[in-house]
Amino acid sequence: MGTLTKTVVLLYVTSAVLCTPFVNQLQPGQEWPTRSSVKQPYHELVQNETDTKSDSVATEVEVVAEEEKAPEEPEVPDDNNPKVLAEEVERIDYSGAQVWKVSTKKSSTQRLINQLASEKLIASWGGNHSAIDILVKPNALENVTAALKKKDVAYYVMIEDLQQRINEENPPLDENELELQDRRGHRMTWKQYHRLEDIHGFMDYLAKTYPSIVSVNTIGKSYEGKELKVLRISDGKQGNKAVFIDGGIHAREWISPAVVTYFINQFAENFDVESDDIKNIDWYFLPVVNPDGYEYTHKSDRLWRKNRKYGYGPSTCTGADLNRNFGYRWGGKGASSYPCSDIYRGSGPFSEPESKAISDFFKNTATKFSAYLTYHSYGQYLLYPWGYDNALPPDHKDLQSVGLLIAQAIRKTGGSEYKVGSSSGLLYPAAGGSDDWAKSLGIKYTYTIELSDTGRYGFVLPASYIEPVARENLAGLRALASVVNKLD
Ligand SMILES: [Zn+2]
Repeated sequence: MGTLTKTVVLLYVTSAVLCTPFVNQLQPGQEWPTRSSVKQPYHELVQNETDTKSDSVATEVEVVAEEEKAPEEPEVPDDNNPKVLAEEVERIDYSGAQVWKVSTKKSSTQRLINQLASEKLIASWGGNHSAIDILVKPNALENVTAALKKKDVAYYVMIEDLQQRINEENPPLDENELELQDRRGHRMTWKQYHRLEDIHGFMDYLAKTYPSIVSVNTIGKSYEGKELKVLRISDGKQGNKAVFIDGGIHAREWISPAVVTYFINQFAENFDVESDDIKNIDWYFLPVVNPDGYEYTHKSDRLWRKNRKYGYGPSTCTGADLNRNFGYRWGGKGASSYPCSDIYRGSGPFSEPESKAISDFFKNTATKFSAYLTYHSYGQYLLYPWGYDNALPPDHKDLQSVGLLIAQAIRKTGGSEYKVGSSSGLLYPAAGGSDDWAKSLGIKYTYTIELSDTGRYGFVLPASYIEPVARENLAGLRALASVVNKLD
């Protein structure tokens, strides 16, 4: 960017920091069931695909075969021994950059947008069939205006100065909040976007405070060695259903971990008085799937999306899009093989430690999940599979009707409108998403939830929105819980 200013900070990441010892915070008697501890078959296949292609059922064998077919990477650093010993961190300044909503009603617009993106004048923030949001770099404002006017493409400016929005997004807590924080035993609030340390501290605090219902387990490590912490809330009843919820796959979507931790707080702190629908479910939460990326958005580039695995290909570009890296139909439409792309799929299915850890967790667990929810932003959508192409799973009518129930609960509570549909149909095909993979394991109610807003703030949603967005989505989650409880 033309007016990009750099604050250079030297960050020393020592191997001691990278290799924090495994701390199993599970309480005695709280071990989570693994397949080796519970001898029961695990439903893994999606039966009776409506998609006619014969290879549409993912089995572990097929996933392994895909891994073998994956292209060789020249020099990929060892996951267990990242070579990030001293990293130069720049804070990227987005002063003067704007975000525009561009109408895509004319069929030629997408081509024009792709061309402007390839010339690095703009970056796509996402869109649907009628409009796309683009970040326009400050030195490109004139050129992009001219290009759109020439083709008679309608647009309007959503964000006049992106850096100003970034500066105002996450103000410090006031004195009352700070005082409360000191008394509470953890630093987490839902009035601010918190760093990873606060989120993990909060999870550990709950496990310590409510050992009979809350337990925390580290299911793996990120590329930089940060823990992937899953918190479970369960009263241990036989016959409970199970739901898995994750957030923060994409680093810059800060509202996602904030909402997921809000759910955790609500259920853990009020479990005794919660409804039976909530108590009859074993809840698993992974609020930050991409901790390296999340921290990077706090320290360096607010708009980073991918993980932080370094040294991809000859280009030395950093990071893969974790939501293009899951092992079902990996490498298909809407995912890039170019390592510098924001939607780079990685070198193979589950090539990234973060997605691999989730995959391993599901491979090893004896828990049969009835729902998988993955929270993203933005756009206000409830999306169900398939994402890889315009195809629908056999039970798509159930997914649509339950999606509408969730949307209704959200609207009644907070007034926000969420559109419901398959991700490929409502938005665009994108292969390698976690939702498709979860569905391929046989998890019935699988949704990607794109939280607020619809573009006024986009990824840079002010922290004052956390509570209202979380509250209405908690109502949506309750609607899902009641459906899950009625399953056989
Ligand atoms: Zn996302």
